[in-house]
Amino acid sequence: MSGADVELVLRSTRVVTPDGTRPAAVAVADGRIDAVLPYGTEVPAGARLEDFGDDVLLPGLVDTHVHVNDPGRTEWEGFFTATRAAAAGGITTLLDMPLNSLPPTTTVAHLRTKQQVAAPKAHIDTGFWGGAIPSNVKDLRPLHEAGVFGFKCFLSPSGVDEFPELDQEQLARSMAEIAGFGGLLIVHAEDPRHLASAPQRSGPAYADFLASRPRDAENTAIEGLIGHARRLNARVHVLHLSSSDALPMIAAAKREGVRITVESCPHFLTLTAEEVPDGATEFKCCPPIREAANQDALWEGLAGGTIDCVVSDHSPCTTELKTPDFASAWGGISSLQLGLPAIWTEARRRGHSLDDVARWMSAAPARLAGLTRKGAIEAGRDADFAVLAPDETFTVDPAELFHRNQVTAYAGKTLLGVVKSTWLRGERIAADGAVAGPTGRLLERNH
Ligand SMILES: [Zn+2]
Repeated sequence: MSGADVELVLRSTRVVTPDGTRPAAVAVADGRIDAVLPYGTEVPAGARLEDFGDDVLLPGLVDTHVHVNDPGRTEWEGFFTATRAAAAGGITTLLDMPLNSLPPTTTVAHLRTKQQVAAPKAHIDTGFWGGAIPSNVKDLRPLHEAGVFGFKCFLSPSGVDEFPELDQEQLARSMAEIAGFGGLLIVHAEDPRHLASAPQRSGPAYADFLASRPRDAENTAIEGLIGHARRLNARVHVLHLSSSDALPMIAAAKREGVRITVESCPHFLTLTAEEVPDGATEFKCCPPIREAANQDALWEGLAGGTIDCVVSDHSPCTTELKTPDFASAWGGISSLQLGLPAIWTEARRRGHSLDDVARWMSAAPARLAGLTRKGAIEAGRDADFAVLAPDETFTVDPAELFHRNQVTAYAGKTLLGVVKSTWLRGERIAADGAVAGPTGRLLERNH
């Protein structure tokens, strides 16, 4: 420990480090982790001690899949409300998706607009994905150089006109362009032909909606993606995997050396099709929440490393757009503030540890985005932490959430794990449900 510079020591009997959970004292200097020391290390003169007792000190969560929708659809969500909800939920870094805001993040000028809007409202550190649409191949490299973390594309309609999907030829062209400058393509992988040929029945029955978004749409899209990535030696990432049928081919592609990573989301890992009530479109998202047996297989994929990370895909809208008809209701699940307890509740039931949760929700998403200063409690990283009481429970009351629209599929659920406080670069930004700030910074790739 350098001593003189240390301004803060955070102590817990359970600090989650890359080498396991142990009693430790984390020394913080200038917003960074200076050293991870034995629990009983003497606190340097002038440094403040925060002792969390048996509450767990986790690395701050990194959520690389958030739709903030700001500017343009701020009645759905905004940077102030989204980042405040994230801070309350133990998240210290988020990356914003390029669509549902107006403008979408498809040119450098649009990126600058988004950054200007986000800067004064960000309670946590915030970065941006760019978008790959049919008309913007020429914008991809400038966006990369301007600091986006990668590029999102759709293979089927996105739901908003200003963000069209790529056909197979356009996908190959964009992927080649992005691979040419060493970038990352992140993909909403549902094949439009399978969606078009699936039965489309409107109404309140979840089974009808599920039938309209078959597993084969995901499986076929992912198979095609693997083919392109292999041929172009391109780096690709599968967003929000729901179909467990795709896991064997993803595992095989990884073994073969194809540069593919995969995420899944709390709703696929903790909610099941069987429990969705008729008309409960707060459970609607695309791809959809599938059956319990599918969920078991996703957990196996996560445990075995075929699925790399767990991120929210927080995609809110107004209450009015969640009509009780699954065909016409807006798709998207709001969970930004609840991801950690939702996953911990199910992870513990299945015999996993908080080391696993930290790997899935902090280290792996940070690695995906190249956020080398985030995602772990080790010297040199930013002093970003979530303090969790892992044995306390709470019941989700949507009225207590900080999302702009208090609609969530988790309403009424009792979850395990209460976030006691959240720390960003050595400052406490949330404590006991109250959030200070905003003091977040904007992040650019490789910074
Ligand atoms: Zn999304």
